[in-house]
Amino acid sequence: MTDTHLIKPILDYNYPTVASGKGIYLYDTDGKTYIDGCSGAVTASIGHGVPEIVEAMKAQAEKVSFAYRAQFTSEPAEELARRLSEWSEGRWNWSFFVNSGSEATETAMKIAIQHWQEKGRDRKNRFISRWMSYHGITMGALSMSGNILRRKRFIPLLEDYPSVSAPYCYRCPLKEAHPGCGMKCAQELETSILRIGPEHIAGFIAEPIIGASGGAVTPPEGYYQEIKRICDKYDILFIADEVMTGLGRTGKKFGSEHWEVTPDIVALGKGMSAGYTPMAATLVSDKVMEPILKGSKSIMAGHTYSANPQSAAVCLAVLDYMEKHDLVRAAEVNGEYLLGKLQEMAKRLDIVGDVRGKGMLLGLEFVPDVRTKGIFPLSLGVTARVIKRAFDKGLLLYPASGGIDGAAGDAIIVSPPLIITREQIDSLVSILENSIFEVQEELRTEGHL
Ligand code: PMP
Repeated sequence: MTDTHLIKPILDYNYPTVASGKGIYLYDTDGKTYIDGCSGAVTASIGHGVPEIVEAMKAQAEKVSFAYRAQFTSEPAEELARRLSEWSEGRWNWSFFVNSGSEATETAMKIAIQHWQEKGRDRKNRFISRWMSYHGITMGALSMSGNILRRKRFIPLLEDYPSVSAPYCYRCPLKEAHPGCGMKCAQELETSILRIGPEHIAGFIAEPIIGASGGAVTPPEGYYQEIKRICDKYDILFIADEVMTGLGRTGKKFGSEHWEVTPDIVALGKGMSAGYTPMAATLVSDKVMEPILKGSKSIMAGHTYSANPQSAAVCLAVLDYMEKHDLVRAAEVNGEYLLGKLQEMAKRLDIVGDVRGKGMLLGLEFVPDVRTKGIFPLSLGVTARVIKRAFDKGLLLYPASGGIDGAAGDAIIVSPPLIITREQIDSLVSILENSIFEVQEELRTEGHL
């Protein structure tokens, strides 16, 4: 183990030390260059080292970095809330600012519970979520997360919220096939609601495209429309966890727009500050706010740094940059290009079973046989091998680990900064292909293919 005081994800691993970043590239202190093929944790949407953001940081720091939200509001925080309402075209006119995606989903829980309390329906205080999901690492958010690897250690402290199957058509947990299945995964929501009793359920939470637990698992057409219909039927709030999919990543301003449904509450994070500062938000519709505005007129949530002017100014500069460079459209158009390249690549390889996702949130799933699919034994560490090969060649990728029900055994997310050019996409795909090919041949030599 290295002589260090910093607790890192893997304590006996020798991490490179990051030195700087520019555009889609990161550089370490040994002078090695990395293509950021996953925007870190699907975060650095506008790329690294953008001078306009540094300017905005400096300008705000020269005015005031911190003022406590219980004592002051601030121009950047007010303006950011206004801009997010504008980005959502009025669907979510209210913003509550927090510091991480976990806090954003957990605040969504609190606001949903409070909404029902203000309406005199105190028993509506539980949530339903899907097995293949990740909503954050804090206890409330983790309670809603089906990601078994992340839950396992803390199960005694958690509520058992995940109860329905994900719309994971590549390897349907219900052993059905789409189309023709009647979307039983969506119907499971209704079954689950009726089992628990709608009078106990405050909300249903889902990632529009499943990220960390699935690798850009994308539902079939009509799925979210059906989910929303069921939620409305039983007076259950639909919470979209757009921490990964929000603010342009999928080629739309919000991932839920792909299915033309309007969630009641939305959690944002990651791309909101594009990694320039810790910042996240819970966006709330007028309908959800109304009883709170009429009732207690305050929301029992928040943190010391909530809505701090420094972070708000950074996020405003990120939104400005996104608009100036038309990056939502870039994610759509260049995302199509990247998807096409990955699909072509998959045909040349033997172990890429599925290529999926939307915009610049794309995923690959590795299988021993593309016809019969199957899952590699976890002990082979196929995802880790691909990530390591790519890393050695200077390409960063994001692992997606499975949930419980036969979920993606081995998958990665490819999600570069939205500013990536076509030429850079070609280099990314070329390194990726070489990395996967090497792992494939290694597996063959070991007798696993
Ligand atoms: N929700 C989703 C969909 C996420 O992808 C993540 C982070 N991977 C979170 C919530 C938690 O965000 P954070 O790590 O910022 O707490």
